[in-house]
Amino acid sequence: MIAIQNVRLFDGENISKSATVEVEGQHIATVLSGETPPRTDSGCQIVDGRNHTLLPGLIDAHTHVFGSVANLRTALAFGVTTELDMFSFPPELTSLLYEVVEEDDGLADLLSAGSVVCKPGGHPTQLMTALPTLSQPQEAEEFVAQRHKEGSRLLKLIFDNGRHAGFDLEMLDLDTASAAVRAGHARNMICVAHACDIAAVRMALSAGVDALTHVPVEGPLPEDVVRQCVQQGVTIIPTLTMMEMSTADTGRALAGDVLISQNLSADDVHAIRCGREGLAVGSGDLRHAMASTLRLHRAGVPVLAGTDANNAPGRLSPVVHGASLHRELELLVKAGLTPLEALASTTSGPADLFNLTDRGRVEPGRNADLVLVAGDPTTDITATRSITRVWRRGTPFDLDGFRASVT
Ligand SMILES: [Zn+2]
Repeated sequence: MIAIQNVRLFDGENISKSATVEVEGQHIATVLSGETPPRTDSGCQIVDGRNHTLLPGLIDAHTHVFGSVANLRTALAFGVTTELDMFSFPPELTSLLYEVVEEDDGLADLLSAGSVVCKPGGHPTQLMTALPTLSQPQEAEEFVAQRHKEGSRLLKLIFDNGRHAGFDLEMLDLDTASAAVRAGHARNMICVAHACDIAAVRMALSAGVDALTHVPVEGPLPEDVVRQCVQQGVTIIPTLTMMEMSTADTGRALAGDVLISQNLSADDVHAIRCGREGLAVGSGDLRHAMASTLRLHRAGVPVLAGTDANNAPGRLSPVVHGASLHRELELLVKAGLTPLEALASTTSGPADLFNLTDRGRVEPGRNADLVLVAGDPTTDITATRSITRVWRRGTPFDLDGFRASVT
């Protein structure tokens, strides 16, 4: 048994000043509030939690693992115990990763969308020609059945004509997208739409998706779109870190924070400093994305922290697994969420939307996915970077060993 004693506890929703959390095997066994005398029974490992805050393992609601186990290890070093992988190909790679993370608690867990729903000639077929594509509504049922069989645990739909990034690509039509969403819902798959501009957001909403990811930098979301989001009960995963790295250089300071760089290879640090993204290069203003995120939040639309981390060996992207989630939380607070709301957006929020009833909150019976940080991230969100311990399913992550191995 592990007992984390007298710790400030964020349980996924609320904060308690002092609590003790006991872990038995892979699960949280008990949560006791108030000060407790130190346990003395042998076989119980005591962790003194004073001046620290215990959080549920963080969930990054938008990443791309690209089959890289190293990405999942780095993510865990930053307290990210689950990644929602929003596109992966080929499916054999996804199946293999599922097996690896089931065996190895030294890696973040993942749920993958697998192959995305896109048109022939649509994004991202310009990057990867072998992808399966969907042309018409009559094919949607079979297309989605195939993705489900391959191990896609959620459905990702691409609404993107590429024009914001200087391409001219085919975009899903409304009937086809709607048919895919119906086929996804019939299999209890949460349907997430990639939509970077306002026209794409409108079409994704008309198709009936459950969540939107990215948030336009071309201009503020119009009031009727915000209203429609509320009426349809959609969730937003704005990926402000990705939008920032596509439009402004302000996020690059992350590379200079030793609490970040101590967990990263020289390549990853270089990627944050110098990598480029193509989502909306040069054409937009991050302030629109920040303002729209706040308006949606104030209107009652759930906001989830997702980064679009997509670096991998050989791919120099400034949005790096694990590290960028801490920037995302900071940006959400800069946008106007409270630190407590930002913390919920990366714990209970994604757990609730994606029906991950075994994680996202500190309560008995849930997986012991836990992060211990020095200080109080409920008043200063950047304290999430001061990680002293991480557990996945009750297994402590060897932070010192990891840091010593990073070059
Ligand atoms: Zn993405």
